[in-house]
Amino acid sequence: MIGEAIHDIFVIGGGINGCGIARDAAGRGYSVVLAEMKDLAAGTSSASTKLIHGGLRYLEHFEFRLVREALMEREVLWAMAPHVISPMRFVLPFQKGGPRPAWLIRLGLFLYDHIGGRRLLPATRTLDLSRDPSGRPLKPGFRKAFEYSDGWVDDARLVVLNARDAADRGADIRTATRVVSARRENGHWTMVTEGVETGERATVRARMLVNAAGPWVDGVLSDVVGLNDVHNVRLVQGSHIVVSGKFSDPRAYFFQNPDGRIMFAIPYQEEFTLIGTTDRDYVGDPGTAAIGEEEIDYLCRSASEYFAEPVRREDIVWCYSGVRPLFDDGASKAQEATRDYVLKLDAGEGRAPLLNVFGGKLTTYRRLAESALEHVEAAIGGKGERWTKNSHLPGGDFPVHDFEAQVRTLSKRYPFLAPGHARRLVRLYGTRAVALLGDASGLADLGRHFGSDLYEREVRWLMREEWARHAEDVLWRRTKRGLHLTAAEAAALETFMTTEASA
Ligand SMILES: Cc1cc2nc3c(=O)[nH]c(=O)nc-3n(C[C@H](O)[C@H](O)[C@H](O)COP(=O)(O)OP(=O)(O)OC[C@H]3O[C@@H](n4cnc5c(N)ncnc54)[C@H](O)[C@@H]3O)c2cc1C
Repeated sequence: MIGEAIHDIFVIGGGINGCGIARDAAGRGYSVVLAEMKDLAAGTSSASTKLIHGGLRYLEHFEFRLVREALMEREVLWAMAPHVISPMRFVLPFQKGGPRPAWLIRLGLFLYDHIGGRRLLPATRTLDLSRDPSGRPLKPGFRKAFEYSDGWVDDARLVVLNARDAADRGADIRTATRVVSARRENGHWTMVTEGVETGERATVRARMLVNAAGPWVDGVLSDVVGLNDVHNVRLVQGSHIVVSGKFSDPRAYFFQNPDGRIMFAIPYQEEFTLIGTTDRDYVGDPGTAAIGEEEIDYLCRSASEYFAEPVRREDIVWCYSGVRPLFDDGASKAQEATRDYVLKLDAGEGRAPLLNVFGGKLTTYRRLAESALEHVEAAIGGKGERWTKNSHLPGGDFPVHDFEAQVRTLSKRYPFLAPGHARRLVRLYGTRAVALLGDASGLADLGRHFGSDLYEREVRWLMREEWARHAEDVLWRRTKRGLHLTAAEAAALETFMTTEASA
């Protein structure tokens, strides 16, 4: 709209990088608008392995800068969001004649323990798998393992909490809003956006544009900004399968496949095991990436090399696939392409600045945002100082070791909640679970029951506070209740949400 104020920053993309940058910028006092064409975290940011990790494997590719920064972020992020992030121990079985000698793994883990400012996470140790319970689900023959620390994250919630905090600090977050064009005009940017469900068009002006469109980053440059010959990222697909639980140990497994790739088997959502990932070059619309038959075979076959009980197709309850937007460094193999991020500023005398974000990991999103803000300061002038390092994401304002205490407190205040329900609410909403539950004194006060332990009060909270518009947003991104609801229950939820939204 002509006459509307010129904002400081316009961000394209509601994944972890766009939301992280919007939050940091809003907290420093910039006026920010963020447009996401689908739902928050609908792109790569909900399709990850869900690790806050240094990336042990990247040491092999000498990515020391990235690994060190990522290792250091583990405890920073854990303290920011101890509800959606938790420490996890990884068991790495050692095989004689395997793809890597023991000394190399030991050296990698030594560096892992020592270069990343580890304070709270426990150090690496060696396990005798014939005695340690982690050896039980494995095939006989695995005698020794290394056990090391990294972190687990609910990736989609990390994104939405960044968006929530950005909005609480003044950012304007617009979901279901596609940016159809962005043009430099009189020293600023003019964007045309389109409501994907309404078709409604709007014009927004900003001093600076941030392109954080993940795997769509090159597409935005060519189709939205109108540049020719854009080739910055290499799209690498990665898929996961979720199977009924293969083990009850709270530790995850790190397997080294004979082809040199690595694979994780991670305890997931209490009763499942998450297995992944694959690495293959991808061509096409990142929005339609789906797991292939050969990926399913590969994941089942590889995991069955380790677990005594084979992983079969029939065990699969859910699959998902995402596309990594890796900066194209010309590596020959997909798994060797750099996982580091690259920020490129396109600006100059009289040209409104454009910052492009290439690559990046969930783990390093906060540091990426800080680096992005350095470019923002240089381009349009500084405002506030760095502030996110010691901040909390919404609901994360409790000490890292107090998760169980939070569950006990919630259960005491709302004794009608089943233990698993209370735990789930703390895992998702942290201290904000109390605001969500409000004055409820029994399950009946939570309103309509949609299946599993999902009730109307939570759905309304997600619609009001977290931009949920459809059942899919609630079932697969804000929560993972999709693993538990039937198709009919999911359809009833969709009808409820669309009716409520139009009321
Ligand atoms: C298989 C796999 C496993 C991974 N595992 C890990 C891990 O364990 N740990 C880790 O730290 N990292 C991991 N990563 C990396 C991490 O997930 C990604 O680097 C990160 O999520 C990228 O976030 P993003 O914000 O750049 O992109 P995205 O999350 O894809 O966000 C970009 C957004 O831009 C939106 N968009 C695009 N075009 C437009 C437009 N024209 N208008 C409006 N919106 C638009 C899209 O809808 C999308 O939501 C993994 C990645 C993959 C694929």
